[in-house]
This record gives sequence, C-alpha cells and structure tokens, in this order.
Amino acid sequence: MKIGYFLHEQCQFLGAVFGERVIDLTGVPWGGSHPFLQRLTDLFRTENFSTHLFQSLYAEGKDREDLWHDIGCLTYLPLFIPGKIICLGLNYEKHAREGGREAPEEPIYFEKAVTAMIAHGQTVLYPDGLGRVDPEPELAVIIGKRAQKVSEAAAREYIAGYTILNDVTARDIQAKDIRNRQPWYRSKSIDTFCPVGPWIVTADEIDPLAPLHIQLRVNGEARQDGTTADLIFKIPTLIATISSLITLEAGDIISTGTPSGIAPVYPGDIMEIEIERIGVLRNPIGAASGR
Ligand code: MG
Repeated sequence: MKIGYFLHEQCQFLGAVFGERVIDLTGVPWGGSHPFLQRLTDLFRTENFSTHLFQSLYAEGKDREDLWHDIGCLTYLPLFIPGKIICLGLNYEKHAREGGREAPEEPIYFEKAVTAMIAHGQTVLYPDGLGRVDPEPELAVIIGKRAQKVSEAAAREYIAGYTILNDVTARDIQAKDIRNRQPWYRSKSIDTFCPVGPWIVTADEIDPLAPLHIQLRVNGEARQDGTTADLIFKIPTLIATISSLITLEAGDIISTGTPSGIAPVYPGDIMEIEIERIGVLRNPIGAASGR
C-alpha cells in the first residue's frame, strides 16, 4: 500500500493512495486490538506501523464514500518525524568517480538533520550567498522495528517501507568543509534541504534487492538517470552494517545514495524525482532572501 499524511480542510489524516484517490484511514472507526494513532510518527514510535493494520482499516472503511478524497484536493504533509536520517556517500561507483573518488571499500555514512525534512510539493529555500546547491535523488528505506546486530539475511524483516529522498546539498559549503577536514553535516542539513515522499510504499510491495529505475528531472528535463541495481552496498548490507554498531529504531530513515550526473539547481527550478514502483517527489526551489 501507499501510505501518506495529508491535509484536507484543516484536518490532518493518514491516508492510503489508490491512483488518483485517497482513503482517510484516520476516519475509520477502529474496533480492532491495535491502538490506532493518527500520526505516522506515533505509529513508528510505538512500532505499530504495519501493512496488516492498514489493510484492516481499508477493509473496514472502503465502502464509505465520505472517507474518499481526490488526491488533487489534498495538501501533502511531511510524512513523520524520523529519529535519525542516515545517508550513504558515494554508494554508486560512477557517482564516486565523477567526484574524483574511488568506490569506497566500506559504506560511508553521514547524518542529515531531521529538521531539514519537508513534504512533497513544499519549497526548498535557497538562502542568499550559499553558492552551489545540488539535488541528489535517492531511494530511502524506512525502518519498522528496533534493530541491533541484525544479519543481512534477517534485514528485510526490519523494513517498514520505502520512499524517495532528495539529499539536497550545499556543494560549495561541503567542499570547504572537506578541505578543512570537517564533517558534511551542515551542508546536508540546511532547513528544507530534505524533501521526502510523496508517500511510503509498504515493505510487502518491494523486494529490498529489486532493481528500481531512478531519475531526476529539473524543469522537465532528465538529468540523473540510474538503477538501484548499481548500488555498491545494498539495503540488507546497510541495515546489517549500521545495526552492528548503532541501534536503528522504527521511523529511522536510511537513504541509499545518489547515481551519477550531479548538477546544480537555482531558485525557480522544479525538481522531480521518480523511482519505479514508488512515484514522483516534486519540489520547487525558492529564494530565501534575508534568512
Ligand atoms: Mg546523497
């Protein structure tokens, strides 16, 4: 299922998307044994995000016409507040080479601040004087339950679902920090520099090793174009290696890295990232003078 978080006439709700229509699952009277919580953040914190729960709610509510909305009438909200956003650096060989680097022998991790996260449709704000800004289209995996020292073979049991993450990067600041042997944190964590969405595709619909086409378009023109088949470190490996040292919790995001073809964007541009079997994440860039 595709699970999103929406706004309609002042009401926020958790919805399941079917083509151009969305059913409000929050509005379904719930008599089952699960506690039903309105926000995806709460579902993750209590480890209650489950396809079974959403399917039960859908079955209960699907015949009630008042619960259905046309998707064009809804505003997309940030999906949830993750505990952490762990990103992969240089996880596609061609992208490593275009930055003048070799493919890494071990995964390169960095963190992006959760406060940078915005929804599908919201504007990435480009502060004055920031220098070059690049989008980075990435497949993101969302953890569904606490993971410590998980094996690669067991890793898929810990996945709640998949979404799209745009790892927007202040490239000039990153280059300066690399020169000064500083971490990448600030260039990756600027407010609004982490669009995520448009929804979560639940784990039952996508195999973590499935090759998915991934493409970035800027103002309708194709730029980065790749496949997750080219990931150097695949999703089960990432979950196993991270959880060997760092506890992963429900609602944590792992963003798997970007394919080659990096190029800058400017205020007025529209970024669209499409990943096969997930959808399209669209965000405009706006000037943020005075910030
Ligand atoms: Mg990236």
